Amino acid sequence: VYTPEQILDRGARPSGKVIVLDDEGLNTGVGVAQVLAESGADVELMTRWLMPVAEQLIYTFEFAFVLPTLKHAGIKVSRETYIKEIGDRQVTAFDVFTNIEHTIADVDAIVLVTARMPENALVKELEGKVGQLFEIGDASAARALIDATYEGHKFARLIGEENAPANFAEAFWQRVPRSAFPSPAAPPATPAMTP
Ligand SMILES: Cc1cc2nc3c(=O)[nH]c(=O)nc-3n(C[C@H](O)[C@H](O)[C@H](O)COP(=O)(O)OP(=O)(O)OC[C@H]3O[C@@H](n4cnc5c(N)ncnc54)[C@H](O)[C@@H]3O)c2cc1C
Repeated sequence: VYTPEQILDRGARPSGKVIVLDDEGLNTGVGVAQVLAESGADVELMTRWLMPVAEQLIYTFEFAFVLPTLKHAGIKVSRETYIKEIGDRQVTAFDVFTNIEHTIADVDAIVLVTARMPENALVKELEGKVGQLFEIGDASAARALIDATYEGHKFARLIGEENAPANFAEAFWQRVPRSAFPSPAAPPATPAMTP
């Protein structure tokens, strides 16, 4: 079982029957599938989603380049399918709508494209050396820009504040003040009744 980093960064090239489980749908899974097919592997790209690629690649029109590349490389795409169990040279997969299982035999390798490695060496370096340390954005877990921006705002507001949390976990479990939630504007003061 391989990670995408082993294929893309460290040059691993498993051969024979290779299943690439793509749970992301962006560029990594299809890129890994392409690289391995072009180096001679018999690749099956498996995804639990309805489409071989994520919606983002439809809007950006990247699908028009990605799908022909997969087809030209002879990659078999299995949609609406996920892995239930990895055994000795065999994989039990299932249809995500019916739960009907099937066995894929003679599997030589599997690449699990299911998450990305955070770049957080700086966090490790600073641990125990500073009063407050918040691991946020992609350093915490690679996600989208909106998460990084939100956490940047949220945690910047805690820096140097009295009784503020010292780390992400403390902040996560802190009670959120009522004032942080949206609420209707206060009603206008009722004018005094005049006889
Ligand atoms: C190819 C690609 C496409 C993407 N497309 C989208 C998209 O369309 N929409 C979307 O919402 N998100 C997208 N993302 C995700 C988005 O870019 C990230 O979620 C976001 O940039 C995370 O912001 P961040 O500030 O946490 O980390 P980063 O943007 O990675 O910033 C961290 C910075 O810290 C620096 N750094 C790291 N270590 C050190 C150190 N020791 N000392 C000093 N500096 C250091 C890095 O060089 C970097 O500049 C994409 C990501 C990639 C890789």
